[in-house]
Amino acid sequence: MITHYGYIDGSGEYFIVIDSDKCNGCRKCTEKCPQNALEMVTEFIDLEDKTVAAVSETHRKKIRYTCQECEPERNKTPCVLACQQGAVKCVWKPL
Ligand code: SF4
Ligand code: SF4
Repeated sequence: MITHYGYIDGSGEYFIVIDSDKCNGCRKCTEKCPQNALEMVTEFIDLEDKTVAAVSETHRKKIRYTCQECEPERNKTPCVLACQQGAVKCVWKPL
C-alpha cells in the first residue's frame, strides 16, 4: 500500500510517500530523520500485522515546514537515502 503523507495547498504539493509493501521495518529512515518526523506503526496488511514506517501524526499537517531543510524537491533526503528498499520518496512541487 502506498501512503501519501502531506497535502496540497495554494503554495504547491508536499508529500512524503511510503510504500508499505516495500518497507521491511528496518527503522533506518526513522534513525536518520533530523526532525523525528518518522515513526514505526503496526498496520494490518495482506492479512497480517506488519510494522512499517510512517510520518507521525503531528508532522503530517505541517510537512512542508518539517521537511524543508532536507530539500525534498531533490528527492535525496536523509529518509530517502537511508531506505535501501526504495520505499520512501518525496513528491514536492512548490509553485
Ligand atoms: S524529508 Fe527530512 S525531515 Fe522530512 S521525513 Fe525525510 S528525513 Fe525527515
Ligand atoms: S528505511 Fe525503508 S525499509 Fe526501513 S523502515 Fe524506513 S521505509 Fe521501511
